[in-house]
Amino acid sequence: MFDNLSDRLGNVFDKLKGRGALTESDVREAMREVRIALLEADVALPVVRRFIDAVTEKAIGSEVLKSVTPGQQVVKIVNDELVEMLGGTGEDAEPRELNLNAKPPVVIMMVGLQGSGKTTTTAKLGKLLKEKHGKKSMMASLDVNRPAAQEQLKVLGEQVDVATLPIVPGQQPVDIARRAMEAAKLQAADVLLLDTAGRLHVDEALMAEMKAISTVSAPTEVLLVVDSLTGQDAVNVAQSFTGEVPLTGVVLTRMDGDARGGAALSMRYVTGKPVKFAGTGEKLDAIEAFDPSRVAGRILGMGDVVSLVEKAAATIKEEEAEALAKKMAKGEFDLDDLRMQLKQMQNMGGLGALAGMMPGMKKAKAAMQASGMDDKVLIHMDAIIGSMTPKERKRPKLLNAKRKKRVAAGSGTQVQDVNKVLKMHQEMAKAMKQIKKMGGLKGLGALFG
Ligand code: GDP
Repeated sequence: MFDNLSDRLGNVFDKLKGRGALTESDVREAMREVRIALLEADVALPVVRRFIDAVTEKAIGSEVLKSVTPGQQVVKIVNDELVEMLGGTGEDAEPRELNLNAKPPVVIMMVGLQGSGKTTTTAKLGKLLKEKHGKKSMMASLDVNRPAAQEQLKVLGEQVDVATLPIVPGQQPVDIARRAMEAAKLQAADVLLLDTAGRLHVDEALMAEMKAISTVSAPTEVLLVVDSLTGQDAVNVAQSFTGEVPLTGVVLTRMDGDARGGAALSMRYVTGKPVKFAGTGEKLDAIEAFDPSRVAGRILGMGDVVSLVEKAAATIKEEEAEALAKKMAKGEFDLDDLRMQLKQMQNMGGLGALAGMMPGMKKAKAAMQASGMDDKVLIHMDAIIGSMTPKERKRPKLLNAKRKKRVAAGSGTQVQDVNKVLKMHQEMAKAMKQIKKMGGLKGLGALFG
């Protein structure tokens, strides 16, 4: 997500980097580009204005002008402002957890346009509440407009093993809500999730219905579900709902496919409510707590180091990592280690996924693609190393012309491919030594800087 905006801002900051001092006109020029980038990313105009003002004010200041690396200072200011506008982190963060402390059943009402992902998100939340919070939920669809809506929720409920309110044909939304409250109480459910009807566009009838449902069910949470791909439109939707029902938060769906990223920024500003969750796929576990610093990091193109580390932790077996760390500390790194690294890259979703997460990798990825290197290469490299003897893997220097020919034949590749692997290994070994010199993993930051 956020590729376009991050590329754009990347260009702006490239220009600032390397300058001795930041003048007011530098900042203004950079902000002009930031403004265009944000507008192109479909961020709403008032949001852009507020953002630019805040950043400009902070950037034109003695602290920045006197700084040794003005570019980095501005990046930091822009980053901090993005994080804040997205809801903040750490102690200063606005609460993004669901409020589950009310008297059960806690009612969570889902609102939004048709197709925004409301029903899917309802089922995702039912599953999440069960698995992460140990809460028993009941789900009820109040959508009587779309013929299959109630049936859809029932099917999803079966998939995630969360109870749904039995369907009574012909019943109207407010009556269904009342019946759902009764049923949830009877079944001693902790949470009642109400999936309301959507429309293609916001209209008065829809708003009246939302109001009536909200009145009878007194929801603790009213979550507005918006499709992050709809950008500016999402803002209009948010504005309409904000005036009519007491929203408590926003869920942004399709963050997995969002290339522009404007919605997250605008939504928080327009509704004044926290973005609580991000939908990241069609599967019913594809929902994440919204993380402003992660999103800001992506917008800035500084890489999503957090999720990279998390993903790595999930894939790399601990002993393997420990053994590698020991070797790295000694400055040793053989072809077996390289092979393990390649495997991990594959596990983590291949070059493409890594490129999206790591700082500076976007350019590297473009270069790799230009030279015809893709995920297939990872598989070839694995085959090449697999065709070597254990001794050769430990001591790559053993690989003379004759041995290389054998390895190439064994792996169905050419000698030049074998050479490429050896070259890559040499370079990585060199990099490992440098990391060691720079003081271990902390030094990694310097590589990315
Ligand atoms: P509703 O009309 O608002 O209830 O929307 P649905 O829940 O029926 O979702 C519409 C479509 O969007 C379905 O095909 C969902 O699988 C899909 N969808 C929902 N959330 C996400 C998401 O976070 N990512 C992706 N890629 N698809 C989603």
